Amino acid sequence: MSAVLYNSTRTKGIQVKASEAILKGLSEDGGLFVPDHIPALDKSLSELAKMNYREVAYEVMKLMLSDFTEDELKACINNAYDEKFDTEAIAPLTEACGAYYLELFHGKTIAFKDMALSILPHLLITSARKNNVKNEIVILTATSGDTGKAALAGFADVKGTRIMVFYPKNGVSPIQEKQMVTQTGDNTRVIGIHGNFDDAQTGVKKLFSDKELEKELDKKGFQFSSANSINVGRLVPQICYYVYAYVTLLREEKIKDGDKINVVVPTGNFGNILAAYYAKQMGLPINKLICASNENKVLFDFFESGVYDRNREFKLTSSPSMDILISSNLERLIYHIAGDDADKNKALMEALSGSGRYEITEDMRKGLSDFYGNYADEEETAAEIKRLYEACGYVIDTHTAVASAVYGKYVKETGDKTPAVIASTASPFKFTRSVMNAIDKARYDRLSDFELVDELSKLANVEVPAAIEEIRTAPVRHDIQCEISEMKDKVTEFLR
Ligand SMILES: *Cc1c(COP(=O)(O)O)cnc(C)c1O
Repeated sequence: MSAVLYNSTRTKGIQVKASEAILKGLSEDGGLFVPDHIPALDKSLSELAKMNYREVAYEVMKLMLSDFTEDELKACINNAYDEKFDTEAIAPLTEACGAYYLELFHGKTIAFKDMALSILPHLLITSARKNNVKNEIVILTATSGDTGKAALAGFADVKGTRIMVFYPKNGVSPIQEKQMVTQTGDNTRVIGIHGNFDDAQTGVKKLFSDKELEKELDKKGFQFSSANSINVGRLVPQICYYVYAYVTLLREEKIKDGDKINVVVPTGNFGNILAAYYAKQMGLPINKLICASNENKVLFDFFESGVYDRNREFKLTSSPSMDILISSNLERLIYHIAGDDADKNKALMEALSGSGRYEITEDMRKGLSDFYGNYADEEETAAEIKRLYEACGYVIDTHTAVASAVYGKYVKETGDKTPAVIASTASPFKFTRSVMNAIDKARYDRLSDFELVDELSKLANVEVPAAIEEIRTAPVRHDIQCEISEMKDKVTEFLR
């Protein structure tokens, strides 16, 4: 079994170990790190079906993070997937109206980002130790809402780290914002920027490639790392729950060993669905990877036409974590379908940052045959929440509803009845107002956010998650705002 090394998507010959890729986040040439090959699962699906979440996670991650020892990896896994999650299954499957909802929201911040961000700090600290890093690690993150809180929760008070989060001041839900600005931990800082998520993300990327800043920080004993979904330490843990979902279906005899499943993913930055793509390449029997977008349907258009074009109106929707026009992780797929060709990928990414557009070749388009793309508009998303609640008594959040609605379109279009796993990426309690309005606007619109929480709890027959109870009364600890042009100053201020 050969070790997996990580190549930059933009320069042939830049190659690092897994722990180095995790430490760096982004390659110095601005590229992302991609595995040089995808190893096959070395346990059978029926063996994996006997394992719990932590054990499955180990079997997947040991293959992708080759330079971690068994002890190191198991310690990381055990520190992450413990009673922080409110269910022993960690990522349970719920069957509703003929589909399987893979609930990835049972962690500390009730969104799927917890699946990766509860383990990333441990992977990062272990990576620092393995590479003799003495500097304090500074996590710099742009968030469309969920990453920020999940990263803050993961890193708060972790020794040897600091974390700074930028979010679009008017681009996240009230509950998302409250979750972030109440964050405790002396090593945390949260800043609302006057701009959208893409502005925040572009700003953070600029800080990462600022050589002068890097030198200045090094002198003070700091170095940057990223908790964003481009980090290999985010991507790899996300492969695990697709494997776990499959073997759960197998264990529960919903499918037979080797049967295919479809996977439906509400997509923003393309990290979650890329993990499913890697799971398929590791040998998990996946038929279609169904990529669901909201009204910011740049990915749907890309799958339709082979043209990626960010030149369009940015729309604020009820699924803000998917309000994204530049899906960073798509770069990894582009690199792969170009035949792992850094030069070709680099040219396309340069076109993207220049004109905001690129077109892939016919040959590359053939590499997209595993994917199906579609989107759901605001009305369809709300209707799906209502439908699922009324027909099956199951309440889903807006992001999951986008995926669920797109899955409906897929089945209608293709007639494909392959069992489907829909990634359920947030608890409905995180987007209570949109969810309750979708069910009965006349009745719920006049209630306050926290009244809605209690109503939802009754309606769905689900206890209010601890993550929500906590913020009811928590004091605001962060109230800094800034312009996009001031982001660098805010960093130096924090690290003075
Ligand atoms: C981040 C997020 C997504 C999008 O996931 P990507 O990996 O960025 O594609 C979808 N839903 C929710 C709730 C999220 O927080």
